[in-house]
Amino acid sequence: MYDSVIFDHDGVLTTLVDLSVLQDAVWETFAELGVSDPDPDHVERMVIHVQPDDVHTVAGAYDLDPETLFRTRDEIASSLQRDAVVDGRKVPYDDFDAIRHIDAPMGIVSSNQQATIDYVLEHLDAGHLFGTAYGREPAIRSLHRKKPATYYLEQAMADLGVDSPLFVGDSDSDMAAAESAGVDSAFIRRPHRTDHTPSPDPTHEISGLDDLLSLDGVPVADDFNTVEDDHTTARDGGASE
Ligand SMILES: [Mg+2]
Repeated sequence: MYDSVIFDHDGVLTTLVDLSVLQDAVWETFAELGVSDPDPDHVERMVIHVQPDDVHTVAGAYDLDPETLFRTRDEIASSLQRDAVVDGRKVPYDDFDAIRHIDAPMGIVSSNQQATIDYVLEHLDAGHLFGTAYGREPAIRSLHRKKPATYYLEQAMADLGVDSPLFVGDSDSDMAAAESAGVDSAFIRRPHRTDHTPSPDPTHEISGLDDLLSLDGVPVADDFNTVEDDHTTARDGGASE
C-alpha cells in the first residue's frame, strides 16, 4: 500500500491559468522595476520554464539585480494568479472532492509560488486536507530546487513522515522527480494533456482524481463504497511552471 499521496497542484488539483496571465505578470514586473520598453524576447524568457541563466542574462541587460527581478516577477505572478482564483478563472477540477476519500496523509509539491499555493488552500478552505504543501520561495535558488529536482518532494515526505507515497502529476517534471526520489507516480491525463506521452514512464496513468480511489495501493476510507458517476471534465488550455 502507498503510505501517502502527494500531488502536484496546477493542472492536477486546480485548472491552469491562461498563459497570458503569466506574460502580463512579466510585463508588469519590468514596469515595476522602471524598465518601460523591455525586449519581448527577454519578457518571454521570464514567463515559464525559467532557468537561473535566463534571470541573470535578462537582469544584466537592464542593469537589474537578478534576485530583485526574480522576486518581483514571482510576487506579481502570484498576485495575478490569486486574482484568477478570486474571479473564478482558476478553479478546482470537478473531481477535486474525490481526494477527500483517500485514507492516508496527503501533501502538495508545486513549482508555483508558495504564496499562490497558500492562497488557494485558504480560499478553498482545503488546507486541512494536506499535511504539508510546498510551492517555491521567490528566490533564484528555488529554480534549482523545483521539479524535476527532488528537493521539495523529499521535504514533503519528511514533513509527512512517509517513505512510499504515490506522486500525482500532469508534467514530465513530475514523473522525473518521482522517479529520482524512488517513488511511484501517476500521470493524470487532463484535457490539456490529451496528446502528451509522459516521460519518464509513469507507474500509473489516470484520467481524473476519482480514478485514484480504485487504484491498487491507494488507501480509501471505509465509508466510501462506490465512485460517483461523475467524470465531468473541464476543457481548458493554459500554462503552469
Ligand atoms: Mg502541473
